[in-house]
Amino acid sequence: MSLSEHQAASLTPETVVVAAGRPPRERDQPVNPPITLSSTYFGTGPLGDGDRGYGRYSNPTWDPFEEALGQLEGAALPGLLYASGLAAVSSALSLIPAGGVLVMPNHSYSGSLVMASELAQKGFIELRTVDIADTGAVQDALAPQGPAAKAASMLWLESPTNPMLGIADMAAVAEAAHAAGAIVVTDNTFSTPLVQQPLLLGSDVVLHSVTKYLAGHSDVVLGALVTSNPDIRAELLHHRIIHGGIAGPFEAWLALRGLRTLALRVERSQESAMVLAGRLAGHPAVESIRFPGLDTDPGHIRAKAQMKGFGSIICIQVAPAAGLSGADAADKLVRALGLWLPATSLGGVESLIERRRRHSAEPASVPENLVRLSVGVEGVEDLWADLKQALDTLGG
Ligand SMILES: *Cc1c(COP(=O)(O)O)cnc(C)c1O
Repeated sequence: MSLSEHQAASLTPETVVVAAGRPPRERDQPVNPPITLSSTYFGTGPLGDGDRGYGRYSNPTWDPFEEALGQLEGAALPGLLYASGLAAVSSALSLIPAGGVLVMPNHSYSGSLVMASELAQKGFIELRTVDIADTGAVQDALAPQGPAAKAASMLWLESPTNPMLGIADMAAVAEAAHAAGAIVVTDNTFSTPLVQQPLLLGSDVVLHSVTKYLAGHSDVVLGALVTSNPDIRAELLHHRIIHGGIAGPFEAWLALRGLRTLALRVERSQESAMVLAGRLAGHPAVESIRFPGLDTDPGHIRAKAQMKGFGSIICIQVAPAAGLSGADAADKLVRALGLWLPATSLGGVESLIERRRRHSAEPASVPENLVRLSVGVEGVEDLWADLKQALDTLGG
């Protein structure tokens, strides 16, 4: 027997990540779900809703992860797994009707911004970008504007934003979006459902790059969407079937395996991030820092109200050093590290560091000297010793 609904509802998230999505508790059943490698399924007669049909429609290997993620986000329905976070973004944006208005944070994940901008350039949608931390500006962007007096069809939320770590008042902007007739999609990649549950703060759809914390080992690329609305879920599922952004069974299995330790990883990396942020803030080579856990951070009070912890992403701007611009000093810092891995991405067990503007797609409003740190689960004193020796090479 798998977990009854009653049991599942009363379990803490720390237990759900371990217990959800197991095979039936019957003699000689495996304790982990198997990987199903099949592109098709036996069947005759008309295909019904319960039928698997074909490998692009469904795969039993997706189900345990989708069930677990739905439970973790507090959704009434299982999630939907995708080939990548951006395949999930594509499916979510397909909910906007032709010519509809999308309101998006000006510092959303760069891939989401590029996709939305390209749809707007082709005239498929209208895009309004805003500072998501400015609730008044979000309200204005949602309201009817232009010759056709169009209100928004969708509000996109990221909080904290990638990489500027802006914090939205999530419940307030979700309420404003609904009042304007828009649906709300929240990219919850940075927080994970253990830290923030957007559906409970009024969002209609939650998005994850499963590549990051959920899978957690920097070894797969996957995405997911979660909603409690059956009509929205049906539309998203149809999009996944027809556009084909499906997950490979092996990747889906790895994601569930990674999810089993999510609570431990989140707890450790959040704790370490708090320690490191405090020390980084006091180092002379650090010009400025954003981390919502610092009580001096502009997003601190909001983050404290809507998150359980503050995540484990820190952004610093590196001060110009003797003869070096801030950007060059940032590059020097990254190269001087021996333990931190200089690489893009985030949310793995290993600590990663990157100067974001090395990507040409990163918005120009992200400072050249901004370095994003994704704190992993190594010993915090080892992480600090490595950072300190590298920062000390900059003088300051
Ligand atoms: C990485 C990331 C994505 C894109 O996900 P992929 O799995 O790389 O396609 C979307 N949103 C955020 C916040 C991300 O960090």
